[in-house]
Amino acid sequence: MSDCIFCKIANGEIPTELVYQDDLVAAFKDANPLTPVHILVVPKKHYENVVDGVPAEVLAAMVHAIDVVTKETGIDKTGFRCITNTGDDAGQSVHHFHIHVMGGRKLDPNAGEG
Ligand code: AMP
Repeated sequence: MSDCIFCKIANGEIPTELVYQDDLVAAFKDANPLTPVHILVVPKKHYENVVDGVPAEVLAAMVHAIDVVTKETGIDKTGFRCITNTGDDAGQSVHHFHIHVMGGRKLDPNAGEG
């Protein structure tokens, strides 16, 4: 999508340090981190949200990216949370499917944190 900021980041139109990328997905640090580690994993192709017909291979690539970035940051050992806000009630502010990967401190079990 031409005016989508995450499309532009994932496809290199807006220079951003990617912490992971492959043919299908990119991962980069959240601009407003809520936790010491706060990484966003996004598909390179535009999907509005998790229920926008995302192909299984893209979902698998996103899980692989989560595996890589959590190991690189060490939060695979301490624990982390993955969330995806979908739609207005969840407060989705960027309408390009993304998974927040959050950790690096004790997370409130009753809070969304993302
Ligand atoms: P959500 O509210 O689930 O749609 O999350 C959107 C997230 O994108 C927020 O946590 C923002 O801080 C983050 N964000 C927005 N613009 C950028 C950007 N240019 N680079 C990195 N993160 C961003």
